[in-house]
Amino acid sequence: MATKRDYYEVLGVDKNASSDEIKSAFRKLAKKYHPDISKEENAEEKFKEVQEAYSVLSDDTKRRQYDQFGHAAFEGGAGGNPYGGFGGAGFGFDASDLGDIFDDLFGGGFGFGGSRRSSTRSRRGSDMLMRIRLSFEEAVYGCDRDIELDTVEVCSECHGKGGFDEEKCSRCHGSGSITQEQRTLFGTFATKTTCPECGGEGTTYKRRCSKCRGTGTTKVHKTITVHVPAGIDNGERLRLGGKGHAGENGGENGDLYLEFSIGDHAFYQRDNLDIYLEVPITVIDAVMGCKKEIPTLYGNITLTIPAGCDSGTKQRIKGKGIKSESTRRSGDMYVIYSVQTPKRLSRDQKKLFESLAKTDFKDSDIEKFEKFTKKNER
Ligand SMILES: [Zn+2]
Ligand SMILES: [Zn+2]
Repeated sequence: MATKRDYYEVLGVDKNASSDEIKSAFRKLAKKYHPDISKEENAEEKFKEVQEAYSVLSDDTKRRQYDQFGHAAFEGGAGGNPYGGFGGAGFGFDASDLGDIFDDLFGGGFGFGGSRRSSTRSRRGSDMLMRIRLSFEEAVYGCDRDIELDTVEVCSECHGKGGFDEEKCSRCHGSGSITQEQRTLFGTFATKTTCPECGGEGTTYKRRCSKCRGTGTTKVHKTITVHVPAGIDNGERLRLGGKGHAGENGGENGDLYLEFSIGDHAFYQRDNLDIYLEVPITVIDAVMGCKKEIPTLYGNITLTIPAGCDSGTKQRIKGKGIKSESTRRSGDMYVIYSVQTPKRLSRDQKKLFESLAKTDFKDSDIEKFEKFTKKNER
């Protein structure tokens, strides 16, 4: 895939541009590149690029997501997600905003409203992807999260029709297309094009719906509460069926995907459902062994540390890892001991270590190593 241009660059605006600046940059470029009027090369592609950039930067939520994650905010994640590709999802087009711009461009009557309902084919709404940050605890124990989203929904006033009192289109007499004469150097040609009045539908409405300005859809800002199941992992996605953008012409809604990124814990480390905890112990506890209180995800437990415990010794506590709400599986907890060599000794302690040093510590590994060192002498 070719690398995508930065949306700000596409619109030629500054990263801190106000929404008015973005809108006016879009107007200028939309006029320049609109395929019906533009003489520029690759006008259609450029127009699409401009449209896409505007659909993101004109929407506060999407713009924030874009500022934070770049193009990745609206693309499928890397491999390993069970829900698969997004392919350009997330660009629900905000028809109502564009309404005026196109009215401007074509003197009203033409454009977005019409072409939006020009296809009677039902189309599924686009999917949305939203990234959610969770704390370590929220991910481990599960939580309920309020999520604010902007969705495009079928207009409740006109039920997606865009208007009331249907009648035969006066411009094309119901055929949906018109014939235009085009004069060129080589003569005059008649071309048949989609009727701009009814967008090919053959019918128009006596009264345009004022709620959706004829587009059939409205932008809705709402808050929904989502239950995040216990045990969700970094990068995992949750699919909320039908919570994406509205479908067209009776098509079903797209889905909303939540992708989680999970914060770290000061002590616990997580590997899938397993939990690792490094437990610092004194050199005395390591030598003599002891009983020690250990914090787990489900309260404290007492463990017996065996005498002669090495640094790095791992102890498994079965079933004390994360319990996944969705798979009903649970992980284990691993305690790893880390022997802390004392750095500051009191005079008495130093004396005790000195007298200890005079005794003979028999250790087969140390003996073997010393033999090797001797042999290596040149
Ligand atoms: Zn409406
Ligand atoms: Zn017509």
